[in-house]
Amino acid sequence: MEAQSEAISTDVLIIGAGPVGIFAAFEAGVIGLTCQIVDGLDRVGGQCIELYPDKPIYDIPAIPSCTARELVDHLMEQIRPFDLPIHLGQRVFSVEQRDDHRWTVRTEKGTTFDCAAILIAAGNGAFVPQRLQVPEAAALEGRSVHYSVARLADFTEREVIVAGGGDSALDWTLALKGVAKKLTLVHRRNGFSAAAASVAAMKRAVNAGEMEFVVGMIDSLDAPDGVLRGVRIKHVDGTTDLAAQELVALYGLVADLGPIAEWNLDVLGGRIKVDTSNYESSRPGMFAVGDIAYYPNKQKLILSGFHEASLALRKAYSYAYPDKKRVHVHSSYDAKLAERVAHASDVA
Ligand SMILES: Cc1cc2nc3c(=O)[nH]c(=O)nc-3n(C[C@H](O)[C@H](O)[C@H](O)COP(=O)(O)OP(=O)(O)OC[C@H]3O[C@@H](n4cnc5c(N)ncnc54)[C@H](O)[C@@H]3O)c2cc1C
Repeated sequence: MEAQSEAISTDVLIIGAGPVGIFAAFEAGVIGLTCQIVDGLDRVGGQCIELYPDKPIYDIPAIPSCTARELVDHLMEQIRPFDLPIHLGQRVFSVEQRDDHRWTVRTEKGTTFDCAAILIAAGNGAFVPQRLQVPEAAALEGRSVHYSVARLADFTEREVIVAGGGDSALDWTLALKGVAKKLTLVHRRNGFSAAAASVAAMKRAVNAGEMEFVVGMIDSLDAPDGVLRGVRIKHVDGTTDLAAQELVALYGLVADLGPIAEWNLDVLGGRIKVDTSNYESSRPGMFAVGDIAYYPNKQKLILSGFHEASLALRKAYSYAYPDKKRVHVHSSYDAKLAERVAHASDVA
């Protein structure tokens, strides 16, 4: 964890930059609330980008069909007029309500926010990498066992094994080709859930002798003195031992409610119970919208989350400006909004 910074003050802090969190930021801007967004991942879009970017979505009002990636692109374009800060790659881990009823929120990277209300749009919780299920892996994590590639240069002239068969595994295998001294991709079967072009490029590299591909599962790691020397691969014909100094396991992401479970909220089945008149949780000033919200007959749909965010922010306004009465203006009559949108398209 990094050192704590000076607190960033804002009316609303939105936790989660999935589709619902992004749209919530737009609504906050329209209503006249300042807001900041924070997400544990290093890109926006939540499930849409992590789980099904190229699949079509057919049930967004007035958009007959778009891919999940296109939806996120449109949402990002929609918030552009408000120029909102988005803090990526930092999971929120603690929230604390002070005597003045404002909140202090901290991320794992040491960023601190001071806000009047919190909108939790955290989906199924933070996505965390699926870890290697071999006993030796935990002690080597961050040294020679990796669940992401932060800097390609760290793998220069190393013997590297990449494990996995999805887009991430294939993309990083191709990126490491020519960087690593020896490169092997290990996947449990000779079939991939990755872009056809990446699979074809990997196969060309194998045929050209630039890397190896081995079908099998990682069975154990050879690291007697805490330094990785090799990996044992189990396959239908037995086992094979491969020399390796670095192992990059890219098995995909799993959702984990994580620190939110510690925030003293009423939770049911891993979701936060809310009042459906304003999507406020059991802690006044803290709202839950999108997939993480629980109420009877809740539908985990993007359009439900948009509605929930809109109502939650109207209540959040009363925490940020308790003495001010907010006057509702339809967006079609909102001159300030029209000006912002026009300015954003001029700049683009
Ligand atoms: C394959 C598939 C197809 C789907 N198709 C449709 C469809 O056709 N139509 C439809 O309406 N819905 C569809 N859905 C559901 C839809 O994607 C979800 O309802 C939607 O993504 C929920 O949005 P969200 O913003 O609430 O959460 P998410 O998209 O899950 O985003 C939550 C974000 O919060 C972040 N986060 C969590 N905890 C923290 C923390 N502590 N600190 C910082 N960040 C945190 C996560 O990293 C994540 O980015 C589909 C889902 C899947 C899996």
